[in-house]
Amino acid sequence: MREKLIEILNQAQKMEYLGNVATYIPELSHKNKNRMALALMDTKGNLTVAGEAKESFTLQSMSKIITLTRALMRYGEDFVFSRVGVESVDLPFNTLKSFTIKPNNPMINAGAMVISSLLVEESFETLLDYVRKLAGNPTIRLNETVYKSEKSTSYRNPAIAYYLKDLNNITTDVEETLEYYYRQCSIELNVCDLANIAAVYANNGIHPVTKEPLIDLRSAEIVKTLMAVCGMYDESGNFLMRVGIPAKSGVSGGILAVVPGRYGIGVYGPGLDENGNSIAGAKMLELLSSEMKLNIFSY
Ligand code: GLU
Repeated sequence: MREKLIEILNQAQKMEYLGNVATYIPELSHKNKNRMALALMDTKGNLTVAGEAKESFTLQSMSKIITLTRALMRYGEDFVFSRVGVESVDLPFNTLKSFTIKPNNPMINAGAMVISSLLVEESFETLLDYVRKLAGNPTIRLNETVYKSEKSTSYRNPAIAYYLKDLNNITTDVEETLEYYYRQCSIELNVCDLANIAAVYANNGIHPVTKEPLIDLRSAEIVKTLMAVCGMYDESGNFLMRVGIPAKSGVSGGILAVVPGRYGIGVYGPGLDENGNSIAGAKMLELLSSEMKLNIFSY
């Protein structure tokens, strides 16, 4: 298995020259495009890795699936989806244009901020602890530098949040909600942690190693569905057709992918395409899917 992953990583590495590291959050711009990694955990808890498995990066938009999970478990699907939609949108993740009251889905920033507002009364530490349990790694922490970098340079996210407040879809304090959102995006981990988290979703909410039940069945089902519908920005349909695996990307260059009942996958490559998806990461998932027959629409 490890040889197969190394071979896939080598192929992805040939794409190193493609794409750009995110620069709109200044602290993300220092990342080295040739540092790539791939990790795969099966539902028995066996982990296989290739590449720079210890290279750390921040969750960014991948955090949106975790906050959505917590909101679903806390409030139930009827309430959550009375506040945010479940349809894909052909617009950038930080769009202000696409919605009236209800953001289209919880994977665009507007929808994610509504979800963050539902969780803000829990402390950020509660979320961080939950991420640590999902990843089976108690050392995961906030990257303060990335958090401060985004907080001090983001004008778009406050615009979205204040707009939602005006529409009464954020009822909590806007600055506290933004604080929570920037922090959830700045949780730092590596591909092994991503593979662990993804494996919990693949294993219907039970951590394959610790055996701890962390997500109820229905919430895990919904989150995987939304990853498939809108997890890869406005390239979600194309990615699903090409790769056939529900996945969520972040502008740090990480992608978390779930093959239900089989594998949790984490990939990393900071060179992004124009939509914000890791080019090498998407390629690794495409190769993995075809070589290991992981397309969920085939059998
Ligand atoms: N913190 C980033 C933002 O809100 C996350 C974007 C992303 O990963 O898609 O702009």
